[in-house]
Amino acid sequence: MAFITDDFLLHGDTASRLYHSWAADQPILDYHCHLPPGDLAANRRFANLFDIWLAGDHYKWRAMRANGVAERFCTGDADPYEKFLAWARTVPATLRNPLYHWTHLELLRYFGVTELLDERTAPAIWERANACLADPDFDAHGILRRFRVAGLCTTDDPVDGLEHHEALAHSALETAVYPCFRPDAALRTRDANRFNTWVDRLSARANVSIARLPDLLDALRRRHDDFHAHGCRLSDHGLERCPGEPCGDVDAGRIFDRVRGGADADPDDADRFASYLMLFFGRLDADRGWTKQLHLGAIRDVNATMRRALGPDTGFDSIGDWPQVSALGRFLDRLHTARSLPKVIVYNLNPSDNYAMATMIGNFQDGAIAGKIQLGSAWWFLDQKEGIEWQLNALSNAGLLSRFVGMLTDSRSFMSYPRHEYFRRVLCNLLGAEMDRGELPGDDELVGGMIQNICHLNAATYFALPARKPSPSLKGA
Ligand SMILES: [Zn+2]
Repeated sequence: MAFITDDFLLHGDTASRLYHSWAADQPILDYHCHLPPGDLAANRRFANLFDIWLAGDHYKWRAMRANGVAERFCTGDADPYEKFLAWARTVPATLRNPLYHWTHLELLRYFGVTELLDERTAPAIWERANACLADPDFDAHGILRRFRVAGLCTTDDPVDGLEHHEALAHSALETAVYPCFRPDAALRTRDANRFNTWVDRLSARANVSIARLPDLLDALRRRHDDFHAHGCRLSDHGLERCPGEPCGDVDAGRIFDRVRGGADADPDDADRFASYLMLFFGRLDADRGWTKQLHLGAIRDVNATMRRALGPDTGFDSIGDWPQVSALGRFLDRLHTARSLPKVIVYNLNPSDNYAMATMIGNFQDGAIAGKIQLGSAWWFLDQKEGIEWQLNALSNAGLLSRFVGMLTDSRSFMSYPRHEYFRRVLCNLLGAEMDRGELPGDDELVGGMIQNICHLNAATYFALPARKPSPSLKGA
C-alpha cells in the first residue's frame, strides 16, 4: 500500500469527501507561531535544506540522540550536509513517531519528494530540495503564498521593537502578519540579575524610567498600547502552572523593590508577584478585546549538564505533572470577579488533564462571546495523531467542538505548514468514521460546515484581527 496518498489518514469515502470538499482548500490563519519577524520582513531565502528544515529543530535532535547520534551532528560543529545525513540515517528509526509522518509530508508538499528518506535516498533528496530552494517561489513570502496563509501571529517580547512588523504592514506580502505580546520575562523575579537587565531594556523601549512598581506597570501598558497599534490582538504566557495566591499592590511593590534592588525573589514571592502581574495583564487584554493564551505545564531544561553545555530550548523538556486545574480555576475566577476576563485559550500539555481542563473552562463561558474560553489545540508532545484526537474528544464531550478555533503551527520553521493539513485530516477522519457508523447524521452540509469553521472561519471571527491588505487570492481572509 502506498504511504502518503491523497487519502492519507482518511479511512473511508466519507472522511475523504469531508476533507477534500470542506477542509483542504481553506486558508490558514496561523494565530500562534515563532517565525522570526526579521525573516518575514527580509523575505528570507534559504541556502539549503539544512537551513530551512534542520537548524534549530529540537524535535529532530531528541530523536537523533535517542538513536545514538553524537551531539556534533545535532547541535555541534558538523557541517550542514553531514547533519542532514545524520538525520536521514535516523528517519527510518522514527517509524510511528510523528516525525516520520511530518518528515515525509513536508518533503512531499514542499519539494515533491515521494521516496522515503534514508541514508540511500539522502543525496538525491538533498540535491532536489536545494534546487527547489533556489527558485524565487521558495522565499519566505512564496512559501506563505503556496500554503494559502491568510494571516499569522509571531511571538514577541514587550522589549522587542516592532520595526519588522511596521515594514511588513507596508510590504507587498499578502499574508497579514501580526505581533503577539509575550511578557514571560516580567515574571522571572527569581533571577534578579536577569530580571533587571530585562527591566532596563523595557525602560529604554517604552521610554519610561522604572524605579518603582507603578513605573513597571506604566511601561508595560505603553508597550501593550504600541503592540495594539501594530495590530496585535493576542497575548501569550508560558507557565508551569497558573500562579496561585492573590497578591495586593503593597506586597507586589515590596517584592518589586527587593528584586529591583538586586535580591532574588524566593519561590513564594515569585509566585505572588507573578499572580499580581498576571491579573494586570488580564486587565490589559480584557480592556482591549484581546485573546490571552496560556501555555501550561512544560517542565523545561531538565538536564542540567546539557543546559550548561547548550543553553535552554535544546530538547531537554517534558510534560510536567503539577496540579493544574484548580490553579487555572482560581486564576480565571479572579479575572472574572474583577470583570477583567478576556478571551482565553488554554493549551494543556498533560493529556491526563484534558477532560478536567475542558470542564474547568466551561465554568467561565459567558454567553456574550461564543467559545470565549477555548481548550487549545494539542500542543508540543501532544501535537500528533493520538494527541489531536484526545483533545478533540475531550473538547467535544465536555464543551462545543463546533466553536473550536482550530490548529496552529507553534513553529519556528517555515516548513511546518503541513501541520494544518495533518490536523484537518485527523479531524475529518474522526468525524467521517462517526458518520459511517451512524453516530453523526449523514449530512455533509452540517458536518462539513463545522469542519470548515474549525479550519478557518471560527478563528477569523474569534480573534477579530484588524484587516490588512485585501487579498483576492485568499478568500475569507
Ligand atoms: Zn509557542
